[in-house]
Amino acid sequence: MWEARGGMAVVHVLKGEHRKAIELDKVTEGKLQQKLTNDPTTVPITEMNLHEIQERLAESYEAMKDGESAFEWYRNAHRNYANCDSCAHQILSKMHAKGLQHDVIDLLKTMGEKSPGEEFTLLTRFLVLWS
Ligand SMILES: [Zn+2]
Repeated sequence: MWEARGGMAVVHVLKGEHRKAIELDKVTEGKLQQKLTNDPTTVPITEMNLHEIQERLAESYEAMKDGESAFEWYRNAHRNYANCDSCAHQILSKMHAKGLQHDVIDLLKTMGEKSPGEEFTLLTRFLVLWS
């Protein structure tokens, strides 16, 4: 069911109907959070889906010129999937614009830590892709 709602949200985004997309994505996001709490075996899949929905919520708020809500949803998305360089880019840009230099440094340090099994850190990938 959540996949169908997610598909409808994508259509609303494409049509520029961001408020409708946000309504659907918030319902889906809540249900996936509940699923994550109730059934820990779904963690990897649910976290990735959550990330996708939360990033789309951030983008919808961004399109509606609500930078504060966009910032919060990018941070939520990044918490669920820390390896997304796109969310990291948005968060770092917004932190910089807000003058949160210590937060920028903290995030960059976290991004520079190597995850087990990863060949490159997120910071390395980020610098290659975004500089
Ligand atoms: Zn992301």
